[in-house]
Amino acid sequence: MGTNPGGEGGPSTLLNPEEIGPVLTSLGVCTFDLPFRTHDGRFGSGGNVTCVDPEHIHIFLTAGVHACERGGPDALVQFITDLLEAQRRGIGLEYGAKTFSRADVVRVLGAGIVFVPMVNPDGIHWDQRTNTIWRKNRNPVSGDPANPNDPAWGVDINRNFDFLWDSRHFDPSAAPNIVITDPKEPRFHGTAPFSEPETRNVAWIFDTFPRIRWYMDIHSFAQTILYNWGDDDNQSSDQMMAFWNPAYDGRRGKHGIADYKEWIVESDEANLRGVARRVSGAMETVAGHQYPTQQHVYFNVGVSGTGRDYALNRHYRPGSQRNKVYGYTMEFGSSHFYPASIAEFRSNIREVCAGLMEFCLAAADIGLT
Ligand SMILES: [Zn+2]
Repeated sequence: MGTNPGGEGGPSTLLNPEEIGPVLTSLGVCTFDLPFRTHDGRFGSGGNVTCVDPEHIHIFLTAGVHACERGGPDALVQFITDLLEAQRRGIGLEYGAKTFSRADVVRVLGAGIVFVPMVNPDGIHWDQRTNTIWRKNRNPVSGDPANPNDPAWGVDINRNFDFLWDSRHFDPSAAPNIVITDPKEPRFHGTAPFSEPETRNVAWIFDTFPRIRWYMDIHSFAQTILYNWGDDDNQSSDQMMAFWNPAYDGRRGKHGIADYKEWIVESDEANLRGVARRVSGAMETVAGHQYPTQQHVYFNVGVSGTGRDYALNRHYRPGSQRNKVYGYTMEFGSSHFYPASIAEFRSNIREVCAGLMEFCLAAADIGLT
């Protein structure tokens, strides 16, 4: 798409889980199977775009965590396709009114990108088969085994990471809206942190590519760019007031109140915010509508167990030797979880591709190591 004038053309159908592996192979990226087999027996696929040493990978992109958010996996695959096609032809990229130079393409490819277009293949398979706006994976542990339509099947992968996973970390009045313990709910957090193979697969990427510095997780359809943290307001004055400190259990999650705020280094917050604004600006240029940026806690009631906060928390744990990873959630715009038309499906893809290009360029500007 991006190598056509204005980013014209594009796919007409959704990729399904069985197509992802062959598509990545056809692109010529270095593909790998994710190590943990899903409940339905799938091995998801990932790609190392330029086949570089894992130590030279600095950007990690995921999509397809929430099964019903259609177009995310397609956009991520399109982005990689466009980058490689532009490189092959020695040209730049165009998405609507947003253009990128040939030098931008070279720079983004040089940043070292690893990506997983479909983190939740079982859920996507189920959603594409049933059209039931299915969000979770397909873990049967809490559901009626005789009824695969039971809403208690499945875990929300983006609530299952080991970051303030348990209700006890939060104020009792806030916890029920933040930590969802009812398996029937679309945001059910699972039976233990990292209980799900899909969640462990994402963590495995961070372990296997230890120099990742920038992480973007693609969702829809709220039209916003979100960044760390998701559990409470940020603060940069008291390093001890932090997620790892059990002294603050039972006090987190009531944002706007001074009894607890989440520690973040001031320059980290400035970097997070600045890059979010650049991503949003690129997407607004393509979309013609606003993409507000915000710390995640202001987007809704606050969240626990997300991949984005897990990404940064690895470095912020006391004594950690792990790389600092800035975490983002892109909520691309659409009229619904299911795009209403092929035209909307494609315009969403153009917005995401422009946002991802700008994300990688902004990351390179601030620093990849
Ligand atoms: Zn989502």
